[in-house]
Amino acid sequence: MPDLLPISALQHLAYCPRQFGLIHIEQSWAENLFTAEGRVLHERVDTGRSDSRGDVHIARSLRLVSQALGLSGIADVVEFYRLKDPTTEDPNEKGVTLPGRRGRWQPFPVEYKRGRSKREDWDRIQLCAQALCLEEMLDTSIPEGALFYGKARRREPVSIDGGLRTETRALAERMHTMWAGNRTPSPEPGPKCKNCSLNEICLPKHGNVGAYLREMLDG
Ligand code: SF4
Repeated sequence: MPDLLPISALQHLAYCPRQFGLIHIEQSWAENLFTAEGRVLHERVDTGRSDSRGDVHIARSLRLVSQALGLSGIADVVEFYRLKDPTTEDPNEKGVTLPGRRGRWQPFPVEYKRGRSKREDWDRIQLCAQALCLEEMLDTSIPEGALFYGKARRREPVSIDGGLRTETRALAERMHTMWAGNRTPSPEPGPKCKNCSLNEICLPKHGNVGAYLREMLDG
């Protein structure tokens, strides 16, 4: 069985392999405005409470695991929608049972993010990994979830389609390979470095930090 790595690390790896290495292999972390805003947003969601509104049951801070992908984490919110016709033959509408509740319910993960919707798949990959964990844990199908963006206060639906699943599985595999290799990649300087919380630790303009330090020490 592979080590269980955090689902959130997929996002770091998708953003920049060096960021993943610094945070998870070297255990570095620096909080900037962007990570601080994200943490506050998650703290508001991470109450652990569940509640129901009619045909919707809302679970918060749900623990997730996938042995197949070697991932674990916590889902901010998983909404469960009561299926109108639980006898449906559609595998996408199989649903699950909930303790103390009648009928079958369709899980729908919702991940809270600071900022705005992004062109890149970073956030969608994290949501997809949550959906894959839920599918494995609950033996069901999850065709859709959503991202909620704090800045725009807007919910964006995300289709958990074949392309996103392939991308997420490949990234999880790459993450395990990097973890096993125990080596942080060199910087990949680019526009993303401006908003990177590890900019001052990474020293992206100096390329290989070992070489940079030798250069400084050699004077
Ligand atoms: S500063 Fe740039 S190269 Fe360094 S970890 Fe951040 S994004 Fe990656």
